[in-house]
Amino acid sequence: MKPLSEREIRAAFVNCTKGEAKRLSVPRHLADQPWDDLDYLGWRDPQAHDRAYLVITLDDRPTALALRCPSPASWQTRRGMCSMCLTAHTGGVSLMVAPKAGKAGQQGNSVGTYICSDLACSLYVRGKKDAGVGARLHESLTLEEKIQRTVTNVAAFIAEVTA
Ligand SMILES: [Zn+2]
Repeated sequence: MKPLSEREIRAAFVNCTKGEAKRLSVPRHLADQPWDDLDYLGWRDPQAHDRAYLVITLDDRPTALALRCPSPASWQTRRGMCSMCLTAHTGGVSLMVAPKAGKAGQQGNSVGTYICSDLACSLYVRGKKDAGVGARLHESLTLEEKIQRTVTNVAAFIAEVTA
């Protein structure tokens, strides 16, 4: 994906208030992110471990989501599969809950999904990060198709949040 600036990222949030988007923690060394290998940029909040964020560029427009990760529980010790990149991890997948955009979110509605705990789907898909034994399913898809699938899954999740 094309590198984004801190300002572009903060302006891209669709499911939190402008004030929250201004205050939340954006990775400091944005220039050092492996943008060429990223389908979306995701990160955990170093100050608040129950928070995570992701930003993706769809149709040339950056869109970002604020996510909550309910505290680690028993499911984290199980093998889990990321709903975005379909990588199976042992303990490396977190339930992430996105408040819905707009009024629905203010009323407490949210959408949850399982995502790689470190939000590094793009790197697992490309084999640049190892998810452990048995993580890679044998698939006949090309890398390009797997990347497309990840993007489609993230876009579908965003569509649910903004619906
Ligand atoms: Zn993933």
